[in-house]
Amino acid sequence: MKLLLATRNRNKIEEIRRIFNFPGIEILSPFDLPSLPEEVEENADTFEGNALLKARSLAGVMRGGEGDAAWVMADDSGLEVAALNGAPGIHSARYAGEPSNTPANNAKLLCELEGVEDRRARFVCVIAFCAPDGREWTVRGECPGRILREARGAAGFGYDPLFVPDGYEETFAELGASIKNKISHRARALEKAAALLTGAME
Ligand code: IMP
Repeated sequence: MKLLLATRNRNKIEEIRRIFNFPGIEILSPFDLPSLPEEVEENADTFEGNALLKARSLAGVMRGGEGDAAWVMADDSGLEVAALNGAPGIHSARYAGEPSNTPANNAKLLCELEGVEDRRARFVCVIAFCAPDGREWTVRGECPGRILREARGAAGFGYDPLFVPDGYEETFAELGASIKNKISHRARALEKAAALLTGAME
């Protein structure tokens, strides 16, 4: 089975290659297929919708093209804060406006939560698949936790220095990749995605 990843993020590509390292699967990325179009605009209003938009855009190209049919996989992720009715949600990357700016996003989040007692939040990751025959699936991974009142730690990216996962006292940015990659929303979604793919290959 060929599996095309609809992302140009090299960290994600490497993480997925490690997790999907089982026989019978060949992982491709847009770097292997230079004629693929740029990523589509993510204008759906759910993580599922945006992940499917990204997967479908490349599935359409692959179907129209020459060569072996490939499965396409895409993801969308973000942070949902309970007291903010799920914001920043699908707007996580550009919460403080264009262009995407992590310090500004984190500052805005702290500002919105100033004086707010309810700090509950969760990271969400949705992975979408399009099969060559037109079938589609999504799987979802979530990681519940809480938002601190100030940033702590230097590892990771995005909202990691503000987020303490349930069951821990340190932020994702303090816990580092070895723990984060076991309990994160992305790890949980990738686990379900791997199960789906192995089932589909049987
Ligand atoms: P994307 O779906 O990977 O593009 O992520 C969208 C945005 O959600 C990122 O730009 C971050 O702001 C936020 N985000 C998603 N996953 C994480 C994470 O694991 N840590 C911190 N921020 C994240």
